[in-house]
Amino acid sequence: MRSEARTDLGEGVLHVLAVEDNPGDALLVRKMFDEAAEGPVLVEHVNRLATGISRLLDARYDCVLLDLSLPDATGLDALDQIRTAAVDVPVIVLSGRADEELARRAVQDGAQDYLVKGQVDGRLLVRSVSYAIERKRAEAQLAHQALHDQLTGLPNRALFLDRLGQALARLGRRDTSVAVLFCDLDRFKVINDSLGHAAGDRLLVDVATRLFGVLRTGDSAARFGGDEFVVLCEEIDGEQQAIRIAERLSAALSAPFLLDGEEVYVRTSVGIALALDQNAHADALIRDADAAMYRAKERGGGVYEVFDDAMRERAVERQHVEHALHRAIDRHELEVHYQPQVRMATGALYGVEALVRWRHPERGLLGPAEFIATAEETGIIHQLGLQVLEVACAQSATWQARRPEVPVRMSVNLSARQLQHPELVATVADVLERTRADPGLLCLEVTETTVMEDLGAMGKVLDGLKELGITLAVDDFGTGYSSLRALQRLPFDIVKIDRSFVAGMHRSEQESAIVAAVISLSHALGKRTVAEGVELVEQVERLRGLGCDVGQGYHYARPKPPGELGYGL
Ligand code: C2E
Ligand code: MG
Ligand code: MG
Repeated sequence: MRSEARTDLGEGVLHVLAVEDNPGDALLVRKMFDEAAEGPVLVEHVNRLATGISRLLDARYDCVLLDLSLPDATGLDALDQIRTAAVDVPVIVLSGRADEELARRAVQDGAQDYLVKGQVDGRLLVRSVSYAIERKRAEAQLAHQALHDQLTGLPNRALFLDRLGQALARLGRRDTSVAVLFCDLDRFKVINDSLGHAAGDRLLVDVATRLFGVLRTGDSAARFGGDEFVVLCEEIDGEQQAIRIAERLSAALSAPFLLDGEEVYVRTSVGIALALDQNAHADALIRDADAAMYRAKERGGGVYEVFDDAMRERAVERQHVEHALHRAIDRHELEVHYQPQVRMATGALYGVEALVRWRHPERGLLGPAEFIATAEETGIIHQLGLQVLEVACAQSATWQARRPEVPVRMSVNLSARQLQHPELVATVADVLERTRADPGLLCLEVTETTVMEDLGAMGKVLDGLKELGITLAVDDFGTGYSSLRALQRLPFDIVKIDRSFVAGMHRSEQESAIVAAVISLSHALGKRTVAEGVELVEQVERLRGLGCDVGQGYHYARPKPPGELGYGL
């Protein structure tokens, strides 16, 4: 900021400020420049630090020569003050032979170079100055790179956080608010994939330019990576004004972009969060704006959402559950219940599915619907899932030790987040070893929607699990959109037909036909079928008629604690 206020002293001429109280030395400096410099050098000489600083605030210099012993300041303190007045101007320290050590410290403290009086000639001085200028320029470039997005030149997250922090600190003295607008392009990935990365990059640059054009002076825009742009507006007098800015941003981006001669339309989802007082935290504000942006996406995109009390309540509620879940895991409030899976042909026990329950100290026994989603969102699912796996494997080992002649297969659910964890295979191997459970009896269930997200990556993880000797099941089959190829390619042994199809069987012939198709398809691919949610005798009969291998549902038994299962367990 300060440097912009300074006047330029003229092009082509090197402007040097010599802060030096010894007139003889100052004269010498001038002489040396005259004899050695290639271009014109204008040396301005002041003999006090205070005068030097006021000159630096007024005009732009290319370099400062600073004597370390001045009448009004000495040593590193003088350097500090100079650097505060003009961070972007290189400084060369002049020292006597006696304080060369101090000069060296000055270089560590940010001076670009030092020269010892009496050991300098013109060539050395000129070289030192041009080197100092180059070095300062490189430093400034690095500093810029660390705080800006390479592609668009906009500030990055770090710089934005800093500016937001400053804006919030200023807030207390004013009667206005600060708004953060989180903008995310809709379907950017599709554009990027179809037109190529180069076109995608150009689009992002154009978006940055348009965003910048809409902002008022004092506002700033940043790119957080990908297609996420965040805008900071100060002096906002309420939600309505923030909304108007969001509308202006969206309007600016709604005109077509020209990429490779093609018109490309982009829509933007905007989340708005307002800081109500000085106590607002920069991180929290960005998080709120991000959450609001997600709401806008959920509504179909192309709209804005203001982070409001309802969202705040949900966020607080989520935090509550998160906290309580941590405690629940520590205090072993989680229980595992088991639901029998029965061979349809004979009615004999095939295995059980482990289903987690939370014995809440106040609310009683809670089902997974109440907490699994939050556990997933917050990442607690890793600990939760591990605990369930350990308990289930220990149970499996106990049953097997008790009745080795009757194998009971143990199914455990894995969530999407768990599958993405790089240590998953190692963790499962470790649990199997510690609990001495038989890998051949363990089956891991993965929901269909999870699997289809990234076939390649998923394939690797599933292969790793298979190598442990584990069985794999695709859960809730029919609810996602998996292709036959995916089912054929991935190493699943079992297909679990979603409850909704089983329930629909006696209602419509069409649903019946789907179940029949899934069963024969699975068999054709060499996979076993398990029907979920079997509640009625008619369903048992139909499924048996269709050749379904295993049934699971209230008709046979509800999930129960291990001691109450029956089936001779
Ligand atoms: P899921 O894996 O599809 O489990 C079957 C769900 O259907 C269970 O619900 C079970 O109680 C219920 N169910 C079984 N038979 C019937 C029936 O005849 N009729 C009806 N209406 N429902 C039946 P639950 O225990 O509430 O679990 C719900 C979901 O939570 C599970 O669906 C699974 O996706 C998830 N889940 C449960 N335990 C875990 C766990 O340890 N880890 C993870 N990641 N997810 C789990
Ligand atoms: Mg399951
Ligand atoms: Mg299921």
